[in-house]
Order: sequence, then structure tokens, then C-alpha cells
Amino acid sequence: MTLTQVPESGWVADREDVVSPKNQGSQPCPVCGQVGAQEWLQGPDRLHGRQEQYTLMHCRACSLVWVGNPPNPAEMHLHYTGAYHKLISAAGENSPVRWEDRKAALTPYKQSGALLDLGCSSGSFLAFMRSESWKLYGVEMSAEGARTAEEQSKAKVFVGDVLDAAFQRECFDVITCFDVLEHLYDPRQVMTRVGEWLKPGGIFYVLVPNVNSAEARVFGSYWHGLELPRHLFHYSPASLKFLAESAGLREVSIETRRNPAVGTSLRYVWDDVFRAVGIRRTPVAYRREASLPWRAARKMVRMTIVRGLLAMAPLVGGGESIHAIFQKEKVSA
Ligand SMILES: [Zn+2]
Repeated sequence: MTLTQVPESGWVADREDVVSPKNQGSQPCPVCGQVGAQEWLQGPDRLHGRQEQYTLMHCRACSLVWVGNPPNPAEMHLHYTGAYHKLISAAGENSPVRWEDRKAALTPYKQSGALLDLGCSSGSFLAFMRSESWKLYGVEMSAEGARTAEEQSKAKVFVGDVLDAAFQRECFDVITCFDVLEHLYDPRQVMTRVGEWLKPGGIFYVLVPNVNSAEARVFGSYWHGLELPRHLFHYSPASLKFLAESAGLREVSIETRRNPAVGTSLRYVWDDVFRAVGIRRTPVAYRREASLPWRAARKMVRMTIVRGLLAMAPLVGGGESIHAIFQKEKVSA
């Protein structure tokens, strides 16, 4: 290609957005490479109340679901608003029970060594793990988050993309990745890097939303776990296992757990119900905390209607969060 044939980069981005829907059926699956993926559903960014529609594709071979028309990487920052970061940090901080659970999940396999947390945010988990036993490292896109993480955990934090981090081969005993893998553009490359960075016998502990969960099936495009377009990939236990195995990791345990955020999916349904009669409600990202009586009323609705819907959970795919532990093969003799 000569220079004269290269249009301005802005034009390329626009052009890709225009043509990609037509090509979706022939996109090979980004994880297993099979062609013939089918359109699964369409949905907007409900968190911010935006209108642009994203198309999710489904691979019948490995069960991966992905956004067929993702934002251009250069524009992705527009989808991570200040309101979004505020919600995420509010949900992530002050969760000692959560970190205690995750530490307990690791302990049977590793009790000490070098630990790397991918997408460590402001370092809550690293701070929880801080002790004589662990040498702590993190990777974080946000410079501000990384600085806070270093302050509160004393970990060494690389600021930038996971694929730009230059760790040596086989230098970590444990790599963790909580609610991050689904945001990354190239999960295959990231998984390959994890496989390279782990020592033989090292542990990879990863959490992602479960697209095969009861809530995902009940709520469809209203499921809060879709987080369009920030979640680029949506895993089932099967597709996550396939991805890990393709990078030389083997399954130690994969389980699904309930996540008590069903109220958000329900809120998205109500947003559309109100919209249909001409009432535009404040999107979830921008709403203020509801008053106590209203919160109590909502809780009652959740307890009755939603509990009924989710009674079918064991029949259709289980909890909406996948907790998976993989291990790199030990060196063969
Ligand atoms: Zn596939």
C-alpha cells in the first residue's frame, strides 16, 4: 500500500464502523478461530443511557460472545467516564470480605512468592495481600490508580497496557485478574503473556462475568454484566477454559457464583419501560443514591419478582460470576 492510498486515520475509523456489520458473519472467532459466528443480540450502553447499538456475536464452537463492532481503541476512553470510574471504585473499595475470599481461594495452591495483579485499579487487593510472604506487582492503565495502588500496597505497578509490560519470563508464582479480562481487546495475547510470565506450576486466578448465567439469559440485552461497549468479550466457563488451555494452562477449578447486582439489570428494564411512555430517567451512571423508602421498595421487588425468575438458575448455567483457577504445567522430567 502506498502512502497516497492511505486515507486519514479518522476516515479509516469511520469506515470500519460502517462496514463491520456486513462482515460480522464471516469474522473468525477471536479465541478459537472458527468462522460462522452468529449474531446473538444487540444492545446499547445502558449504564450511561446512550443510544448507539452494539452487536454481540456468538461462536458456536467455543461459546465465546464478543462485540462485533467495538469502538476504535483510540476512542475507547470516551466510554470510561468519570461517573463510571466513581461507580467502580465505590464498588471495589471497602470489600475486605471479597479480598478475604480471594486470598482463601489462592492459599491451597500458593502461600508466598511473587504476585502480579493485572488491572489492579487503586490496589485494594494488593494492599490486602501485603505481608512478608508476598512480593507484589501490578499493571494499571490509569496513572492515578497506579499511584494510589503503590502508596497503599507498596507494590511495583506498571502504568499502561498489559501487553506493553516487560516482565521477565517465568517470574511470577501467582497472577490475578479480577473483572478485567473482559475489557481487553486481545485476550489471546494477554493469556499467552500470562503463560509466559508464570513460573512452572504457577497459578492464574481470573474472574469474569458469566454470559451463560441465569441472569444473562433472563435479562438478555438488559443484563448489567454486558456493560456495552466496555466489556468486549463475554465468557462462559467453557470458552474461558478453552482460552486458558490454548496458552498452556490447565484447569484447577472453575466455579460460578451469584453476584448480588441484579437490581441494576432490573433498573435497565424499567428505564426502557419509562422511555416507551416518554419519560427519560437519569442513567445509572449519573443517578444519586435513592432515598431510604424507595430503596426498601426496590428491595422488596427484587426479593419477590427477581428471586422467582432466578429460581431457574440451576437449570440454565449457574451464577453470573466465573471464578477460575488455572495452573501452568510443572516442568516435565
Ligand atoms: Zn470460538
